[in-house]
Amino acid sequence: MLDYPNNISEFEERFATEDACRAYLFKLRWPDGFICPRCSTNKVWQQTDGLYRCKSCDYKCSLTSGTMFEGTRKPLLLWFQAIWYIVSQKNGASAKNIQRILELGSYQTAWAWLHKIRRAMVRPVRDNLSGLVEVDETFIGGKKPGKRGRGAEGKILVGVAVEDKGDEGIGRIRLGIIPDASASSLNEFVIERVNKGSIIRTDNWPGYNGLKTVGYERCVIGRKDLKLVHLVVSLLKRWLLGTHQGAVSHEHLSYYLDEYTFRFNRRTSKHRGMLFMRILENAVTIKPISYKKIVKNIRGKKPSNHKI
Ligand SMILES: [Zn+2]
Repeated sequence: MLDYPNNISEFEERFATEDACRAYLFKLRWPDGFICPRCSTNKVWQQTDGLYRCKSCDYKCSLTSGTMFEGTRKPLLLWFQAIWYIVSQKNGASAKNIQRILELGSYQTAWAWLHKIRRAMVRPVRDNLSGLVEVDETFIGGKKPGKRGRGAEGKILVGVAVEDKGDEGIGRIRLGIIPDASASSLNEFVIERVNKGSIIRTDNWPGYNGLKTVGYERCVIGRKDLKLVHLVVSLLKRWLLGTHQGAVSHEHLSYYLDEYTFRFNRRTSKHRGMLFMRILENAVTIKPISYKKIVKNIRGKKPSNHKI
């Protein structure tokens, strides 16, 4: 289904009511009609309270239960507006922007929504990069430059992979936090994000020596010649400092990396509406997560309050 609003006026016209939002979300969640999440049959009663009751196993569920929207007390209309705003801003939105635009009473709500929406920017199954791919690592955060291979106080090491499409320029990117610049960490970073058989371009750091043994060709150039990686890293850092004023805590950095990747890989897309639809498509397939869990459930290192 490729059915989305093309611009703000189409968006406003189409999603003027809660019912219109529900109908759209229903279509994304159950394109072939309702299917019981428990027994997978399709016979259903629609109750007056908005719940669906399975005729076969009596299971009751709502349109939003089991999705990113589970438990929300706000109208879908507001969520749709938040997502539309996020995809239509070139550099994304901060929690403060969202709070102001939607006139939300609480900053925490805006902050939690952004985190939930960020999770819906990652497709449950992602295609790997392929072809010629430039790979390097960079430190994010802290004031002093970090020492390679040893880590540095208050800094996070981020792996960066960038497709080199020759005359067409940069293809897609992948970013991810890595524990260190050892061979095993770098191998794992590449294996999870790049198809075997691809050519990996790196500098002469020995941590990349093992790539051949795990199925890649390696091409070595000088560190300063890793131009694609350096460009992506400088744009990423500018984005973190600009849109988010550097206020990204260590424990949440990986989700910001996901948002940046989502935006970067779709930077040439003229169809902002399609991004809106993709986020909603993911939103009905990802598991719900509570505010408490967003605060607590941290990927990567232990929580701290360091700022970028
Ligand atoms: Zn059922």
